Amino acid sequence: MSEIIDKILYISGKNPYLCYQCGMCSAVCPMASYMSVLPHEVVRLIQLKDPRVVELDTVWTCVSCMACVDRCPRRVDPGILFEAVRQVVLRKGVDKADYRRLVDLGKAPSMAVVALSRKMTG
Ligand code: SF4
Ligand code: SF4
Repeated sequence: MSEIIDKILYISGKNPYLCYQCGMCSAVCPMASYMSVLPHEVVRLIQLKDPRVVELDTVWTCVSCMACVDRCPRRVDPGILFEAVRQVVLRKGVDKADYRRLVDLGKAPSMAVVALSRKMTG
């Protein structure tokens, strides 16, 4: 049993084992085309207790729009699970975000700035 996955489940309060891999979360995700592993695939990895989920770009590309939460028929809510994955990493003091990577902070969509801020520790 993976301690990291246990933490993710504890923080999120979600039950990934209810997921039946319908793929709706990936279908509605506006960031899916920028992810190397799609949201429903990440949920599957969490089901399998694969600790490598903390290393996937998916959870950092996620902008917490919660479209997947709105549409998940099983209330697995990948967006909430991904938030918990980020918390596990951020609690180690690891910064995964850098404002300098935004080309023009003043012109960036406010959602992008807010999403970025939630991924910083410092
Ligand atoms: S929408 Fe919900 S049930 Fe469907 S694949 Fe995504 S997490 Fe699983
Ligand atoms: S919360 Fe994240 S994973 Fe879910 S639809 Fe929005 S960007 Fe995609």
